[in-house]
Amino acid sequence: MNVDYIIVGCGLAGISFCEKLKEQDKTFVVFDDGSQQSSIVAGGLYNPVTLKRFTSVWKSEAQLEVALPVYKKLEDKLGVSLDYKIPVKRRFTSLEEQNNWFAASDKVGLKPFLNTSLFDNANPKINADFKLGEVLQTGRLDTKQLSDSYKGYLLEHNLLVTDSFNHADLVIEDSSVIYKTITAKHIVFAEGFGIKQNPFFKDLPLGGTKGQLLTIHAPDLKLDYVLKSSVFVIPLGDDMYRVGSTYEQKDKTNTITQEARDMLLDKLKTFVDCDFQVVSQVAGVRPTVKDRKPLVGRHQTNQNVYLFNGLGSRGVMIAPFVANQLFDFIEKNVPLDQEIDCSRFF
Ligand SMILES: Cc1cc2nc3c(=O)[nH]c(=O)nc-3n(C[C@H](O)[C@H](O)[C@H](O)COP(=O)(O)OP(=O)(O)OC[C@H]3O[C@@H](n4cnc5c(N)ncnc54)[C@H](O)[C@@H]3O)c2cc1C
Repeated sequence: MNVDYIIVGCGLAGISFCEKLKEQDKTFVVFDDGSQQSSIVAGGLYNPVTLKRFTSVWKSEAQLEVALPVYKKLEDKLGVSLDYKIPVKRRFTSLEEQNNWFAASDKVGLKPFLNTSLFDNANPKINADFKLGEVLQTGRLDTKQLSDSYKGYLLEHNLLVTDSFNHADLVIEDSSVIYKTITAKHIVFAEGFGIKQNPFFKDLPLGGTKGQLLTIHAPDLKLDYVLKSSVFVIPLGDDMYRVGSTYEQKDKTNTITQEARDMLLDKLKTFVDCDFQVVSQVAGVRPTVKDRKPLVGRHQTNQNVYLFNGLGSRGVMIAPFVANQLFDFIEKNVPLDQEIDCSRFF
């Protein structure tokens, strides 16, 4: 088999890059072994503001401009709903926080995203004495649906190999790479935290931050927006909500823990007062980098070997934007934004 690209990894990074390749009439084959779960378990929120300190996210406007049309196109192509527009409201815990919100809403980069009218809490099951602030241009992408449907689409077109990619079997030549029976012009590794098994890029400073989320059934809660307090509460429909998530640095497994469940429930109960049942719990490892920027670019010595990683805790917004940059870099020699180029760590 001869293709333009081999892609390793079919999470948000891999999917975004495949879509760019399709758009540009490039041929490819994807490997995915299900060893990482980040894109499958993600809360799926896209939100251009950091809600802890009210700061703007790097290139948020440009990211949204690229990402939302890509997801719309994927909805049409896959015949599923993926993008649920829903407001995100930040619960304030003091007057000082309200003041910080107003100060932030005046700043360039944040103005388009912070509603300056504060909302009284009208929900008797929520405790929010200091009102709520609304972030604009937010939503939830159903990343599990995207992952399932996209893999189904790739399988149908014989473009997905559901097996581990074994790096030791890759032969790199001057103008191609060969993997078993496949010859490609380029290979792009989009393995998320699986990078730790990749001999080409494993020494880059990708730390990995485990996250766990609960799904609860809360018939009395009646929330029609995403509520951000010490944890997010994300409505899924049918009285189901996702609650999370944790940020764990030591454990790098996809295993759920009682400790995380207790911690999430303790936090939830500080601002939600109604009966609910925990329906499920999930865990995954976010591919995080210490400077909070993606890790993208070309291998130091192998010209046909590329990396698409480091999407951190905001893969939904950033993946399609970075896919464009990586494609232009490989195919048109357009330099990558220095802030995301993995060569910053070489
Ligand atoms: C609990 C939690 C909540 C989150 N919430 C949000 C959120 O609300 N909004 C948001 O934007 N982001 C969120 N994220 C972050 C988001 O999930 C990540 O940014 C994104 O999923 C990273 O995508 P990726 O494709 O780089 O990695 P991954 O999703 O990890 O995908 C990598 C893929 O590569 C495959 N792979 C790895 N090694 C190999 C190999 N050797 N052979 C074959 N296949 C291989 C894996 O099986 C996997 O499918 C959350 C993450 C977690 C864990």
